[in-house]
Amino acid sequence: MRKQIAAANWKMNLSLTQAEKLVTDLQNQNFSIAENQQVLLAVPFPYLIPVKQQINTSHVEVAAQNIASTTNGAFTGETSAEMLNGISINYAIIGHSERRLYYFESNETLAQKINRAFEFNIKPIFCCGEPLEIREANTQNDFVEIQLKESLFHLSEAQMKGFIIAYEPIWAIGTGKTASSDQAQEMHAHIRQVIAQKYGAEIANSVSILYGGSVKASNAADIFGKPDVDGGLVGGASLVATEFAAIISTLKK
Ligand code: PEP
Repeated sequence: MRKQIAAANWKMNLSLTQAEKLVTDLQNQNFSIAENQQVLLAVPFPYLIPVKQQINTSHVEVAAQNIASTTNGAFTGETSAEMLNGISINYAIIGHSERRLYYFESNETLAQKINRAFEFNIKPIFCCGEPLEIREANTQNDFVEIQLKESLFHLSEAQMKGFIIAYEPIWAIGTGKTASSDQAQEMHAHIRQVIAQKYGAEIANSVSILYGGSVKASNAADIFGKPDVDGGLVGGASLVATEFAAIISTLKK
């Protein structure tokens, strides 16, 4: 079975003390993580090392929230894939809608970031998803398909095998509005079909497709229970240990 993943996106939140307390509280929760499951904590850059040092199981890993599109050099304020690799970070979110919106990251820039990640053995968690006006015009399938093609379709079969995608409808992020589990399933099936058309069914079936957008303990089981939903990328609810632990417990085994 492909990996079932609960990924926390802390965004730009928490003091170091709060971050360490959240990890302690999370580790004190009563949940187990099966072999086919992975928990990721995408924390702000300054917390990567301290949080990593605090974690006591390989089923929980720390992830970056972004990486530079270039290799090391004169790019003030950026953090490269090489640097993350140097501190043993194995995952990075790439293309979150907040990066696309506030930092103007295009599909082409994201393709470069994906390449940098692969060069330094970092597994991307590639985000895609449509804004409200696209959903209202019912053109979300085409919109997401273009995001996938322009950022990912240069990848080799080996790179696409086991790849991680997060479908996050922008209208559902941080708004309290969640896509229904049927809406999530419909888009996830579409994403898998788009990948299958280029890479074949076997590789498409190996890709973990996470849902993101106001996932909470109260709706996770319904959404994660759908056949093409392989877990979630969780913002607000991941800042509460009990909520995130309950969400982890709803991953398929
Ligand atoms: C996110 O940050 O990726 C996200 C889905 O946020 P939230 O769960 O708060 O909607």
